[in-house]
Amino acid sequence: MPGIVQRLSFDQTETEARGHPGLFAPKRLVHTALAAILDLVFPPRCTGCGRVDTIWCDRCQRELELIPPPRHVQPLPPLSGMASTGVHDGKIQQAIWSLKYENARALAEPLGERLAAYFAGLTWPVDLIAPVPMHASRLAERGYNQAHLLAEQLAQQAGLPCAPEAVRRWRFTPSQVGLGRAERLENVRDAFEANPLLVQNRTVLLVDDVYTTGATLSTCAEALLQAGATAVYGLTVSVARQ
Ligand SMILES: [Zn+2]
Repeated sequence: MPGIVQRLSFDQTETEARGHPGLFAPKRLVHTALAAILDLVFPPRCTGCGRVDTIWCDRCQRELELIPPPRHVQPLPPLSGMASTGVHDGKIQQAIWSLKYENARALAEPLGERLAAYFAGLTWPVDLIAPVPMHASRLAERGYNQAHLLAEQLAQQAGLPCAPEAVRRWRFTPSQVGLGRAERLENVRDAFEANPLLVQNRTVLLVDDVYTTGATLSTCAEALLQAGATAVYGLTVSVARQ
């Protein structure tokens, strides 16, 4: 009876926590002290060039700002428009990798700035910014959704509302890495569900880190339109070389 076993062990953990309310405070202290010691022994290094004491240095930031956008990104229907701030290469690629896989959440800021600077030059009539959602189990594993961090940065700088609940990924989909466009479309089919209360009669801008084949963004856009969105645009930090 695995259900009962699970429930029992959960209750037990709760009781232990309630019985020793002070237990977690020293634990936190130990973690903070440990992080400080680790910083001394292994100081943070710039994701872009390896320079010590910062995860993203000024020189890499200047280089990031100078990267030209790709000439054109073909939107997959039903997206009304698609744009990306650069080709998935060099500094952009390194920064996204760290944001995604190395817990370097602070990198959402320079990448979000890039999104905002690029978005300011577009004439899309956007009402609402929504991140491409992550399935709850992957979110629990990673602790954050990088697309959400990027969307928040962009929304803040563009003065638009960010609605992380606008669309959710209710079906778990295996990683898309290594799959072609048709396989990706099949992989994410019906994986998303949008909230009509948030998106009805609104033009939504979907934000993600990388645009590879467009399967995820177009499937997300479909869910948003089904929920009553007027139109859906897509903006990503980078686009895979096509
Ligand atoms: Zn650097």
